[in-house]
Amino acid sequence: KLHNTILELKGNIRVFCRVRPLLPEDGVGTDMVVSFPTSTESRGRGIELVQSGQKYPFTFDKVFTHEASQQEVFVEISQLIQSALDGYKVCIFAYGQTGSGKTYTMMGRPDAPDLKGLIPRSLEQIFQISQSLMSQGWQYKMQVSVLEIYNETIRDLLSTNRSSSADMTRSENGATGKQYTIKHDANGNTHVSDLTIVDVCSIKEISSLLQQAAHSRSVSKTQMNEQSSRSHFVFTLRISGVNENTEQQVQGVLNLIDLAGSERLSRSGATGERLKETQAINKSLSCLSDVIFALAKKEDHVPFRNSKLTYLLQPCLGGDSKTLMFVNVSPDSSSVGESLCSLRFAARVN
Ligand code: ADP
Ligand code: MG
Repeated sequence: KLHNTILELKGNIRVFCRVRPLLPEDGVGTDMVVSFPTSTESRGRGIELVQSGQKYPFTFDKVFTHEASQQEVFVEISQLIQSALDGYKVCIFAYGQTGSGKTYTMMGRPDAPDLKGLIPRSLEQIFQISQSLMSQGWQYKMQVSVLEIYNETIRDLLSTNRSSSADMTRSENGATGKQYTIKHDANGNTHVSDLTIVDVCSIKEISSLLQQAAHSRSVSKTQMNEQSSRSHFVFTLRISGVNENTEQQVQGVLNLIDLAGSERLSRSGATGERLKETQAINKSLSCLSDVIFALAKKEDHVPFRNSKLTYLLQPCLGGDSKTLMFVNVSPDSSSVGESLCSLRFAARVN
C-alpha cells in the first residue's frame, strides 16, 4: 500500500497518534472517518482513514483512540519524562490542524484533575521523583522558560513587563527592543538573550507560571486574531542534579511543544497578511519535518538553521536526545483532507 508505513523504531524518534472524539461542533450526523484495525500485529498501533471510499492505513509507534483518557496517554510517556531527570534532553511535540486536540493533549483542562494534560502531569511526576531521590543524596535545581514563536519571532510568555507581552507587532518585538537571540554554547546549552528564566522549587510555582503563560498567550489571541493557533508554544524545564554522596551530576532538559495549526492554505482561505503567516507556519513545520527526517535517516547534514524552532531546539533534537511527536487527528468527515495530510507528515518522520 502506498501510504502504509512500516513500524520501525528509528533511533530516538517516536511517533504517537491521538484521535479526539467527535464533538458537538463537528455537526449532527457527522461520522467518524477513522477506524482502528484490531488485527494482532497492528492492535494499538494502526489507524485507517477513509476518504471517498478509499482506505488509507497507517502504523505508528502507538495509536490512541478517541476513547483514550489523559491518564492512559500519560502512562505511555512517563518513562520518557523520567529520562529528563536522568540527564537526557527530551522534546515532545503536538502536531495537527487547529481543533485536533494539541492543546488538550499538552495542557488539558487545568480545572478538572482527570483532564489535565501532559505538561502538568509531567511536572508533577518530575517533582515527586526528584523529592524521593533526595534521600539518596540528589539535589535538583529546576528552571522554567516559556516562549512562543510567531512568524519566526520569539515572544517571552513569562515576561513580567506587561508591554512586552502585549505589544508585539507582527514583525518584531515592538518598542521593548528585545532581541531574543538564540545561542548555543560548547556544552550544548541554549541561551536566548533577554528571555525570562524562573527558578522553581514546587509544582505550585510552576502552575502559576503556566497560568501566566496561558494568560500572555490569550491576550494576544484577542488582540491578534487568534494568534495562539498560529504560533508554536514552547515550554522548557531545565533540570540540574547533583548527588552530594557520589558527586555525580546530571543536566536534563524537557521541552514540551504545542505546535501551530498545520492546516493548509485552502482550508484557512488566507489572503494578504494571513497568507504570509500561513506560509511562515507551513515553512517552519516543514523545516521541523526535514530536521526530524534527516535525524531519523542519520544524514550528515541536518538543516537546523532553516527555522527558529529547529534552531532553538537543536541541542535537544540531535545526539542522544529523545523526541516524541504526537500527531493529533480530528475524526470528522469535513477534516478528512487535513487528517490525511497530518498522518502523512507523521508517517514521514516515523
Ligand atoms: P488544538 O489545540 O489542536 O487547536 P484543542 O486541544 O483546543 O485543539 O481541542 C479542540 C476541542 O476538542 C477542545 O474543545 C478540546 O477540549 C476538545 N478535545 C480535544 N481532544 C479531546 C479529547 N481527547 N477528549 C475530549 N475532548 C477533546
Ligand atoms: Mg491549541
